[in-house]
Amino acid sequence: MKKLKYTVFALVLHFFFISCGKDNSQVIESELLIHFTNFEAEAVAHGLDIDLSTIDINGYIQNIETRGALGQCKSYSDGSQQIIVDEQYWNRISDYEREYLVFHELGHCVLEREHNDEKDENGNCISIMQSGNNGCKSVYNTEYKPELLNELFTN
Ligand SMILES: [Zn+2]
Repeated sequence: MKKLKYTVFALVLHFFFISCGKDNSQVIESELLIHFTNFEAEAVAHGLDIDLSTIDINGYIQNIETRGALGQCKSYSDGSQQIIVDEQYWNRISDYEREYLVFHELGHCVLEREHNDEKDENGNCISIMQSGNNGCKSVYNTEYKPELLNELFTN
């Protein structure tokens, strides 16, 4: 009984610590971090001055309840932002699809991009910022990636 009490206390303390630490520590789950880092490198390579360590943005892999939502960019009134990707979806997609999803959400949060569902003559989405509901085909591979990154960072 004594041991159980201690465990509950430890959990509460942990939660308290997280909520207090929110203002001054960035939390980006490790599986997301590589994609945040690549986003920053690509942004810089495309001439943007972006340093994610100076932006109050956190990243989490969690269950998203909203039907059909695979990722979210949330902005709060204190200026902080959260990227959340759906855990179930995350666990069954490739690295390329993970990058696409994270870049899309960072496009909303960091670049302030809105959706763009334009398509090319083959019906392929011309932007990573496609909404997913407007019928263009998303193609993200070594051939299309350079063009899509160009579109992402120069609009
Ligand atoms: Zn979106």
